[in-house]
Amino acid sequence: MPEGDTVWRSCRRLHEVLAGRTLTRSEFRVPALATTDLTGTRVLEVRSRGKHQLFRFDNQMTLHTHLRMEGTWRIFTAGRRWSGGPGHEIRSILATAEHDAVGYRLPVIELIPTANESDAVGHLGPDLLGPDWDPEEAGRRMSAEPDRTIGEALLDQRNLAGIGTLYRAEVLFLQGLHPRTPVAKVKNLTRLVERAQQLLFVNRWRPEQATTGDLRPGRRTYVFDRELEPCRRCGTPIQAETFGPLGQERRSFWCPRCQPLVETDVSA
Ligand SMILES: [Zn+2]
Repeated sequence: MPEGDTVWRSCRRLHEVLAGRTLTRSEFRVPALATTDLTGTRVLEVRSRGKHQLFRFDNQMTLHTHLRMEGTWRIFTAGRRWSGGPGHEIRSILATAEHDAVGYRLPVIELIPTANESDAVGHLGPDLLGPDWDPEEAGRRMSAEPDRTIGEALLDQRNLAGIGTLYRAEVLFLQGLHPRTPVAKVKNLTRLVERAQQLLFVNRWRPEQATTGDLRPGRRTYVFDRELEPCRRCGTPIQAETFGPLGQERRSFWCPRCQPLVETDVSA
């Protein structure tokens, strides 16, 4: 699943090729937008908000898309063959004289008045890579549910927008926190989310997501996707489990030695 940094980079690329240009062709292959044609409309900007994409047009409308697990926006030089998947998986085409932006397998695609964007993304917490980033507000939102696990709180986009399973696993390792630690037991939520923001920030321009500082394949993460492999710090086999709210269960990775579970206060 794309995380906030991947969506941010994708929107920057889309913005570079589309912003300020007039659409020479548009297609939406979803029933609600089947007859919509934006040909002749100018693209003002393309922005990310957490893991959402917002394409703003000069007709005061915004195309809102979300990639979820499978979706992707691909950019091709005009006239080149498209290679993002079979044609029946295409949900949207936005073309200018120079480029074709093609949205594949987009589970969320809707056209809304720009003035009503908050209906689509207003529920999101501070965006780790957005101008509104506010670690204290993210911490406040997480503390509102003190009994919840920190692993679930970090993935809840209403608390802070942009973290997926990779950055969750990695930031919890770096802070020595077991994913099932209750939020109330995390001493410094602000520090935790600041650390997460730093991880996304350093990765925002590169396709390889590395939290170890080592970009070589197989060395990029401490615990993510390393089940039963030795911890890079202590050698203990990395553990994994799937947990989370019903229907939103996600894979979690941790080192049992570096990230012990602290559920209750130890009385002196
Ligand atoms: Zn360890």
